Amino acid sequence: MKFSKTVCIWLFAMSVMVMGGTALAEQGSSALLHGLWSEAELAGTPADHLVTRPYSKPADLSPPDRVQPLVQPGFTPQRLRGVIRRVKIADGEKVLALTFDLCERASNRTGYRTEIVNHLRRRGVAATFFAGGKWMRSHPMQTMQLMADPLFEFGNHSWTHANLALMDEEETREQVLWTQGQYETLREKLALLAASRGLEGQMSHVPESMAVFRLPYGRNSAATLDYLARMGLPVVQWDVLGEGGAGSARDVALRAVKEVRPGSIVLMHANAVPKLTHEIVPIFVDELQRQGWSFVTVSGLLALGEAEAVQDGYFEKPGDNTQFDTGYPGKGTLHPVYGRK
Ligand SMILES: [Zn+2]
Repeated sequence: MKFSKTVCIWLFAMSVMVMGGTALAEQGSSALLHGLWSEAELAGTPADHLVTRPYSKPADLSPPDRVQPLVQPGFTPQRLRGVIRRVKIADGEKVLALTFDLCERASNRTGYRTEIVNHLRRRGVAATFFAGGKWMRSHPMQTMQLMADPLFEFGNHSWTHANLALMDEEETREQVLWTQGQYETLREKLALLAASRGLEGQMSHVPESMAVFRLPYGRNSAATLDYLARMGLPVVQWDVLGEGGAGSARDVALRAVKEVRPGSIVLMHANAVPKLTHEIVPIFVDELQRQGWSFVTVSGLLALGEAEAVQDGYFEKPGDNTQFDTGYPGKGTLHPVYGRK
């Protein structure tokens, strides 16, 4: 029973890849995912959506178990330097990368909108999750499920949502490398789980490290890009705001659909902080699939064309995010003082 279900899902995933005309980079294993968790476990519960109130507890400043990752990627190649906003696709193929940030500051614990992930799984939609290291630590099971899933890629979103424009090299390295270390620790835990079910052979499909980075608040200095290049992590932002503007979920989703171009990178969140994302995603995804678009991970997209990069991150226009340099204490890692109750 379990085997046939696994085969069906595998065949479905393969057909999606073939239909989409784009091979997915290896980043997980259906046999591993479905060998470790039942459909009900993957579906999650409403308790997953809980976001705790900032300052209900003292800020969590504790480091991860592993502060120095074992895997050290080389330098970022020149073609992937700068702040990447989209990828130029030579033949105009209708392909895009959908991304979800899993942000978590030191001052609270955020959630996980399982409906989003469930919809992506149902539709065979690839995506990249840029996770905070502290989010991974507070959501170990969900992290391991995403890690095992062949549709999904992980990227690094700093340890506690740091504004890197305000941080020096040592602080930046800590924010980035702690998160790489947390990924490794949970990958090792996943390997133990896999071994307990005789699935250790599947672990070779799970990347040993994260290979892309997203700037919290889209903020950086020139030096930030230098530090990240030396840590071997290309910086990937977006050219389409998937949750932007006013109106219903349908209004927002269809507006975002119109903004998508071949090679676009779309920003959304799966940490249950933006309130409409789980309603936007099904409308956005289904409409693009109806129009013949295919979804790849960020790494998959970077392999398809030439990265278009700028020197400073922003939301829609250069300089539209500098206000984040004030108001968030701890260099971005804590909620605004006015949120204190
Ligand atoms: Zn974020």
